[in-house]
Parts: sequence; structure tokens; C-alpha cells
Amino acid sequence: MKFNLKSQVLQPLVASIFLMGAACAPQSPKQVYQEKYGAPTVSTVAEYREHVEQDPNRELVDLRSYLPDAVFDVVYATADNFMGKPVYTKPGAYLRKPAAEALQAVGAELATMGYGLKIWDAYRPYRVTVEFYEHVLDSTFAASPYTGSKHNRGCAVDLTLIDKATGEELAMPTPFDEFTPKAHVEYNDLPEEVLRNRELLIQAMAKHGFAVYADEWWHFDFHDWEQYSLMDLEFEELESAGF
Ligand SMILES: [Zn+2]
Repeated sequence: MKFNLKSQVLQPLVASIFLMGAACAPQSPKQVYQEKYGAPTVSTVAEYREHVEQDPNRELVDLRSYLPDAVFDVVYATADNFMGKPVYTKPGAYLRKPAAEALQAVGAELATMGYGLKIWDAYRPYRVTVEFYEHVLDSTFAASPYTGSKHNRGCAVDLTLIDKATGEELAMPTPFDEFTPKAHVEYNDLPEEVLRNRELLIQAMAKHGFAVYADEWWHFDFHDWEQYSLMDLEFEELESAGF
């Protein structure tokens, strides 16, 4: 029998060195989250590009071009948020295309009444949902990373109303991200004006397919959210996709 040194000795050796290398290679944070919480995410630009090519509605579009008159105050890109530090690399504000179009319709309708929108947050990379959850360890106000947030799907937006003439926020039950019972939409021990403003926002959003989240008067989910994947791409990665 011919002894084949190459196949019997070298190949297993090469294979075991390769496997050792793979086991020692550091995992990316995205792989670590995926293993820890088991939520499947779109985490590469190539995968995102493929998804959008299959269905253009999956594109995450820049809200600033859909709502040029809105005020953008993306607090997670600053230290002025409940984490006490910036968790976004830049003040991005993106939603899936149909959600952005619906929000544009909300803005147009409010404008006829002299109101505008102030946007605090929209699409949120899954990485940030993990950071929030690991900080507060509670899933009432921070979405569970086991299921992900509708923000991660590009289908949720946090916002309030402003007076278009002054740019000032209308009086609402609480400031953004005040995680108290007053933030609940059925909390009614509030001035008449506040109740009216909250109702105006909730109704304007509902008319165009956004449902308020009961624990947070400022958070709205777009009705088609189930059709969209959780995404773990940074704003820079979205922009690099080149749509
Ligand atoms: Zn929210």
C-alpha cells in the first residue's frame, strides 16, 4: 500500500491548525451579541444591500430629506440621555421607506395646523439595544435584546410636537425618556392642555399607521414592523450601502 504522507499526515495537521486559528480568532461584538441573545440581525452591509435589492421598501432612508422642516434632536448621539454618554456615533435619523413616507404625511398634516415634529430617535442599531438593556436590566423601558426593538427594525420613532412658529415643544406629560408612570398614555392627572397635546400627537400618528406604545407617550411603532428584520448596522454602514 502506498503511504500517502500528504493526505494522511499533512492534511489533518493543516486542518487542526486551521481550526485552532478559528477558535482563537476574536469574535466581533455583533457575533457575541448574536450568540448571547440569539436574535438574528442583518449585520453586514452586503446582506442589507441584498435585502433592499429584493424589496426597495427595506431601504432605511434619511428622515432629514423626508421632513426638512422637522427639528432633529438625536439625544443618543449626545451625553444628554439616560445612559449619560453618547451611544450613537452620529445623530442619524432613519426609517424604512414606507414609514418615512407615512411620517412625512403626518408632518404635512400637522403643518396645516401650525405644528411641527421634533424627532428624538428613529432607527437604532441592535448593538445599542443590547447596551441599553445591559445598563438597566429591565424590559419595560428598554427593549429586550432577545426579541429586539422595533427601533432596530427601522419601524419606530420617538418624537413630540412643536409650535412651528417658535420651534418650542408643546407641553407634554413628561420629558423624553422619563421612565415614570406619568409617561403612560393612560395617565390622566395632567393639565387639560397637556392632555390635548398628547391626544393630538397620538391621533395624528395613528391616522398614518403609527401606534403609540402605552408606556411611553413619545414612542410610535409603524404598523408593518413585523415585515422588517432587526438590523445591526451603524449609521456610517447604512450610508456606505450607497442607496
Ligand atoms: Zn422609542
